[in-house]
Amino acid sequence: METDFAALTPTVVAELRAIVGDAHVIYGDPDRLIDYGHDEVHGAEHAHLPEAVVKPDGAAEIAAIMRLAARERIPVTPRGAGSGLSGGAVPVCGGIVLSLERMNRILEIDLANLVAVVEPGVITNDISEAVRQHGLFYAGYPMSTETCFIGGNVAENAGGGRAIKYGVTGRYVLGLEVVLPTGEIVELGGKRLKDVTGYNLLQLMIGSEGTLGIFTKIILRLLPQPQARTVLLVPFTDARTAIAAVPRVIAEGRVIPAAVEFMDRFSIQTAYEFIGEKPPHPRMAALLLFELDGFQESEVAAQADAIADLCLRASALDVYLGDTPASAKKMWRPRQKLAEALNTHWAIQSAEDLVVPPARIPDLLAELEPFGERYNALAPCFGHAADGNLHVHILKKPEMPLAVWQAQEGGMLTALYKIVVGLGGAITGEHGIGAKRAGYLPLAQSPELIALQRRVKAAFDPMGILNPGKIFPKL
Ligand SMILES: Cc1cc2nc3c(=O)[nH]c(=O)nc-3n(C[C@H](O)[C@H](O)[C@H](O)COP(=O)(O)OP(=O)(O)OC[C@H]3O[C@@H](n4cnc5c(N)ncnc54)[C@H](O)[C@@H]3O)c2cc1C
Repeated sequence: METDFAALTPTVVAELRAIVGDAHVIYGDPDRLIDYGHDEVHGAEHAHLPEAVVKPDGAAEIAAIMRLAARERIPVTPRGAGSGLSGGAVPVCGGIVLSLERMNRILEIDLANLVAVVEPGVITNDISEAVRQHGLFYAGYPMSTETCFIGGNVAENAGGGRAIKYGVTGRYVLGLEVVLPTGEIVELGGKRLKDVTGYNLLQLMIGSEGTLGIFTKIILRLLPQPQARTVLLVPFTDARTAIAAVPRVIAEGRVIPAAVEFMDRFSIQTAYEFIGEKPPHPRMAALLLFELDGFQESEVAAQADAIADLCLRASALDVYLGDTPASAKKMWRPRQKLAEALNTHWAIQSAEDLVVPPARIPDLLAELEPFGERYNALAPCFGHAADGNLHVHILKKPEMPLAVWQAQEGGMLTALYKIVVGLGGAITGEHGIGAKRAGYLPLAQSPELIALQRRVKAAFDPMGILNPGKIFPKL
């Protein structure tokens, strides 16, 4: 099904122009198309040029595009901000990239129901800022919040820093307006906190990676804005000791931090060098960064004391407190700049997004060293310590010839994913399968489960035109 698509013709392009307006179609201009042929996955082999980019404004225009694409059998790939880390927005089968960038309005902040109604192309952080003016809080927090779009967050069910306390994006999506691949428009959910009417297709859409429908309106649940916030930076001499402190903080300290980030020795060195600062402690070879929030300063201060005490008893080297906005920002900076630092210094790498049951993190860390040695690669590790979601960037050493790296990459990823699955984990915690991991899905799921999901896909998208080449391995 994935190979017998039709190519775009000038007649079809003229129809697209009639739907969205001349200015909103890019066609026959490789210099402009190239921006829409990749996301943030490294490597030219993960990029693919679209034949056209179309920028609709509204569900009716998108429905017309989908009807045209279905009639002509042309693949359509929805695109948000293109910050994805699995190739989800890359048009691997060519055809049309459907960019949601013009649909960037916050339609309503409904104070009586504590919801925001937004279009898919709003930058996530803009939602947080807009609702903050009303004393409200949008809890979704991917680390790319200043660039990614909310539609992309819903499509990936984005996680991020605050998942341990607040959960992931899906917890806050109460309703969606969706254009189906057939061009029908449906509404799922609404401004309701409870609803068990029919199948829960709302949750099926969340995390569907742009393969089941295109979101055109999103209803988000809001919370009261926490008034107090504190950050603790806690250095340790080794990763195992640092990780072992996390469950103690939650169970013995009776605190659920808003975030618990971890960085290993290599990540610490890379990030601090990149921002031109010295790590705060000379012997620090692992760090935990705790963010605490609440409604009273005294409550957060008591949480900070409890965590500091527990960490010191768990052999932390020290505890540094960031209780002003400026000091908290400074403490977060190395973690926030880490991906950029790794990308700047290591042009050839595979950024992985592993998740294991939290208690198996030490076992995963123990496996990473021999794994790196076996493939003569570096495998620094950082991420969301409390929920078991660790990012491992496998880096090609400069001395390794590119051909050797390319020849071993598939086997290397297979070996890594087998380790994770063996620990009861999953091959992606928040970045998605997309195109990058589609070939590896059978390592993580049974043939029966994959076949069931293919049948679900076919029910929504009988022509197979919406975001083909994603999630499922080639038949
Ligand atoms: C520095 C950095 C940090 C990151 N940190 C995190 C993190 O902490 N947590 C996390 O989860 N991710 C993180 N990411 C990954 C990425 O930002 C998220 O996956 C984000 O949700 C993607 O949003 P986007 O708008 O860029 O989507 P895109 O990359 O454009 O698209 C992603 C997927 O969504 C689909 N899609 C987009 N819009 C729609 C729509 N309206 N309807 C249907 N499908 C749609 C696309 O087809 C594609 O499959 C990070 C990325 C970077 C570069």
